Amino acid sequence: MKFDKSEALYQEAQNHIVGGVNSPSRAYKGVGGGSPVFMKKAQGAYFWDVDGNKYIDYLGAYGPIITGHAHPHITEAITKAAQNGVLYGTPTALENKFAKMLKEAIPSMDKVRFVNSGTEAVMTTIRVARAYTNRTKIIKFAGCYHGHSDLVLVAAGSGPATLGTPDSAGVPASIAQDVITVPFNEVEPFKEALEKWGNEIAAVLVEPIVGNFGIVEPKEGFLEEVKRLTHEAGSLLIFDEVITAFRFTYGSAQKLLNIEPDMTALGKIIGGGLPIGAYGGRADIMEQVAPLGPAYQAGTMAGNPASMSAGIACLEVLQDESIYEKMDQLGAKLEAGILERAKKHQVDITINRLKGALTIYFTNEKVVNYEQAEATDGEQFATFFKLMLKQGINLAPSKYEAWFLTLSHTEEDIIQTLDAVDYAFSNMTK
Ligand code: PLP
Repeated sequence: MKFDKSEALYQEAQNHIVGGVNSPSRAYKGVGGGSPVFMKKAQGAYFWDVDGNKYIDYLGAYGPIITGHAHPHITEAITKAAQNGVLYGTPTALENKFAKMLKEAIPSMDKVRFVNSGTEAVMTTIRVARAYTNRTKIIKFAGCYHGHSDLVLVAAGSGPATLGTPDSAGVPASIAQDVITVPFNEVEPFKEALEKWGNEIAAVLVEPIVGNFGIVEPKEGFLEEVKRLTHEAGSLLIFDEVITAFRFTYGSAQKLLNIEPDMTALGKIIGGGLPIGAYGGRADIMEQVAPLGPAYQAGTMAGNPASMSAGIACLEVLQDESIYEKMDQLGAKLEAGILERAKKHQVDITINRLKGALTIYFTNEKVVNYEQAEATDGEQFATFFKLMLKQGINLAPSKYEAWFLTLSHTEEDIIQTLDAVDYAFSNMTK
């Protein structure tokens, strides 16, 4: 495979765009550097790059593209929306229709507000929780990613009872002091943090099924205990379902796990590929938001007809639950095939999979928290990533990301992928 045109575009990009990319995860820093591939076209489960190479795509644009690229129903909806004008700055009936669909699918949300990204959605749930509780601090879990607003770019302190430190330059230490980060899937440190800070905690923020240090499910009873203790402390529980909503079922992780939070943040899939975010929750909490209440949140682009139309169309496609079964079956085939080839070539891996989403960790340990994900072999992953790319398999360039199947992937795609995995593993030293 040749990548000459991608390399030339990357050189040019670096003159104009900081780091040559518009989101750091798109650079290949996590896989030892090099030029990212510049894609030109996407259709169904496939990508074509600027050099004419074809790929099977498992990136799914980091989650939103669950139908596959350019799904005809969504493309038609976007086209129609564009013909009618993409931005009004007035309310439209589309917003009502889409809000109703989301509420029906996620019953813990009595009221919804649309924003433009997952970052905005999470950021605002925290503001609303602070307004509602009249408290300032939050607790979050190590390795969960909640967007790039100041408050969630905070790293753990030295223990559960210590406050956080900025995880990015530009985040003030004073803001980090409002955040406590504890390990996912462990109740004791969470309890300890609440014992120390309980009456100051506005909200506890969690990805109910983690997507950001690979796919990691909560241990049995973990979220239930988190919810109980959160409420006992008079705090609100926020589920960040930006990745998980509509990924595993028509609805949310809260439906799969049978546990409801006070507020939910949404994004990714609900936009059908266009920019979107949304948040919602109990009516008495959501009534804190302007124009009803004192917590301000606004958006020029919020609820725009193009994103609403794409989101409605995407959910219409997903209402056929059989597609989730199909993705589960293909996911199971992929998982079993990869494990078989790892055994054959004596490569140590662990796979975490839930339905059509999976992560390969280069380790022989079980991965249930961020510390364990961090300890997996990043160099092995980088080698694997590059060997797969050269065979036309597009994965996320990070050991912490998931492979996402779409309803466009086929059995033949899985077979081709497993052949590529076989070759990649056969070229990896232990
Ligand atoms: N929350 C979670 C769980 C995410 O995975 C992400 C993005 O990857 C975000 C929030 C932020 O969403 P966005 O990139 O749309 O701002």
